[in-house]
Amino acid sequence: MTDIEIASTVKLKPITETAKKLGIDPEVIELYGKYKAKLPLDLIQPARMQGKHLILVSAISPTPAGEGKTTISIGLTEGLNRIGKKTTVVLREPSLGPVFGIKGGATGGGYSQVLPMEDINLHFTGDFNAIEKAHNLLAALIDNNIQSKTSSLGLDPRTVTWKRVMDMNDRSLRHIIVGLGGTSSGIPRETGFDITAASEIMAILCLSESFMDLKERLGNIFIGYTYDKRPLYARDLKAHGAMAALLKDAIKPNLVQTIEGNPAIIHGGPFANIAQGTNSVLATKMGLSLSDFVVTEAGFGFDLGAEKFFDIKCVKAGLNPSAVVLVATIRALKYHGGVKVENLKEENTAALRKGIENLEKHVENMKKFNICPIVALNKFVTDTDAEIQIVADKCKELGVPMEVAEVWAKGGEGAEKLAILAAKVAEQCVCKLKPLYEWSWDIEKKIETIAKEIYGAAAIDYTAQAKSDLKKIIALGLDKLPVCIAKTQKSLSDNPKLLGRPKDFVVTVRQIEIAAGAGFVIPITGEIMRMPGLPEKPAAENIDIDEQGHITGLF
Ligand code: ADP
Ligand code: MG
Repeated sequence: MTDIEIASTVKLKPITETAKKLGIDPEVIELYGKYKAKLPLDLIQPARMQGKHLILVSAISPTPAGEGKTTISIGLTEGLNRIGKKTTVVLREPSLGPVFGIKGGATGGGYSQVLPMEDINLHFTGDFNAIEKAHNLLAALIDNNIQSKTSSLGLDPRTVTWKRVMDMNDRSLRHIIVGLGGTSSGIPRETGFDITAASEIMAILCLSESFMDLKERLGNIFIGYTYDKRPLYARDLKAHGAMAALLKDAIKPNLVQTIEGNPAIIHGGPFANIAQGTNSVLATKMGLSLSDFVVTEAGFGFDLGAEKFFDIKCVKAGLNPSAVVLVATIRALKYHGGVKVENLKEENTAALRKGIENLEKHVENMKKFNICPIVALNKFVTDTDAEIQIVADKCKELGVPMEVAEVWAKGGEGAEKLAILAAKVAEQCVCKLKPLYEWSWDIEKKIETIAKEIYGAAAIDYTAQAKSDLKKIIALGLDKLPVCIAKTQKSLSDNPKLLGRPKDFVVTVRQIEIAAGAGFVIPITGEIMRMPGLPEKPAAENIDIDEQGHITGLF
């Protein structure tokens, strides 16, 4: 059965029931139909977060074979609830554009899904639309000010980096010229569109903890320089109040349910390369206020998502995970060992033994943060006993507890052993998260620490552009912000072709972008796609709706 077919066999409970399960009076939730609701922010209470357990799910370096972090996060949540632990899964919202491309949705898979999957994958509660509007309002205000005769701030259009956004994979909008059509239609300038998830507003929304915090961050968005080289920010255009007003509801976390009727909070969806790659701080704190365990996911591999989760999100929000689950699959490890995608179904212990060095490096990296690690082997039907034994032996050698999970095929039942292990590790964990670097360090020292310690780089190289960006950042006084390195997710290095555990490589920083509103700078180490295209055969061709309004073809 396909994911949406499995999903359609589940009889959903009214979302008011899920709220009751969390001890919330159903009267206080804001209903979006029968099965979705927004949670008011005053349900977040620091006193209620004490002694609660935050479990982060991360993974080895992603491959085209798929690792299953979301699927494991949901399955582990079902498993924990089965063994009597009150648990909520807290995840990112899927981006709509990729649903019609190759990737499909992001609501888990098989018997570990969040529901209603067709709603969550399409439109959901409109958060992405609100973010898009807030982003494009600033773009409109910028072009309006450039056009303005009486209130012009003297913004040099050639220095404006703020683009427009849309939640669609549409490569033809990457580079555009606006302002054509004569004197009444603006000043022509080159710009473009990014996909909504790549908006700095997404990153801002997911780090903000209140409306005041949100407004301040929106006001801090850097938009460019005046002709006489003065920096200008969104607050100079008086844009932040109206932008925050557009985000009035988008800032509130969304409540839905899992296949087994457990609570799921889904909120925000920043990328894990140019942004922090994890759901909103408010959603995480909401989960911790309402249940005893929270299982959450960080995007891409441990080197990208988890590093940012710890060094940016946890430091900013004062969070301390009590267990970290690293998801590995035998297929992905064989791929790291040199096996082609089409041959991953066959047993290949030699390739597995080679590719397992990728797991080894990520486990070493986990230990650098002083957290309590676990490895979860996400079982595929093609995995053999001999292959599973190799992973078990390696984890034993590395001194990290490991458990096999069959959540895709069996839901929570397939995660009971993993849940018992995760609960034990979390409850016994006395570790205090140790960030990899101090925000107060120089930008170069921060980049070098991540690249050498986590990626395994031998040295760092800066292009002339990156050096000049660095000077600019120091001049703007933004050098004490954390660094959010944009790197390929496919390799531990900055070269997507280097699989396994690359050694002796140089990481090249090509430029350093400013995300002053989000509160980090973004060293760019490769080609970063912010407006994906559609493939030759888009998934959209298979998506349909019938006379009764049932949607098919989503995955
Ligand atoms: P991630 O969160 O790491 O990107 P997902 O959990 O979204 O990964 O899973 C990626 C894809 O792989 C999904 O389509 C999911 O259904 C599929 N998948 C995950 N685990 C398994 C498994 N054990 N067997 C088969 N398919 C799986
Ligand atoms: Mg995921």
